[in-house]
Amino acid sequence: MADCQETLNELERFLDSELSPVRVAEVIGHLKGCSDCQGAYEFHSELRTIIKTKAQNEDLPKGFLDRLLGCFGDEVLGAD
Ligand SMILES: [Zn+2]
Repeated sequence: MADCQETLNELERFLDSELSPVRVAEVIGHLKGCSDCQGAYEFHSELRTIIKTKAQNEDLPKGFLDRLLGCFGDEVLGAD
C-alpha cells in the first residue's frame, strides 16, 4: 500500500496516465481510503481542466474559488 507522500509524488504522472496499471491501482486504492490525498487529487485534476479550458473561457468555474479557499485559505489568492 502506497503512503501519502508516495501518492502525492505520483499524482502528476497519474493524471498524465504515465503510471503502470499496478501503480495506478495503488494510487486509486490509496485515494479511496485517504480524504487528504483525495482532496489533493481533485484539486490537481480540476486545476488541469481549468488550465486546458482557459484559452476558451477566462471565467473560473462556478464554485472553484470557494473550494480553493476551503482547501488553502485566503492566502492562496494573495493578500489584499
Ligand atoms: Zn494519503
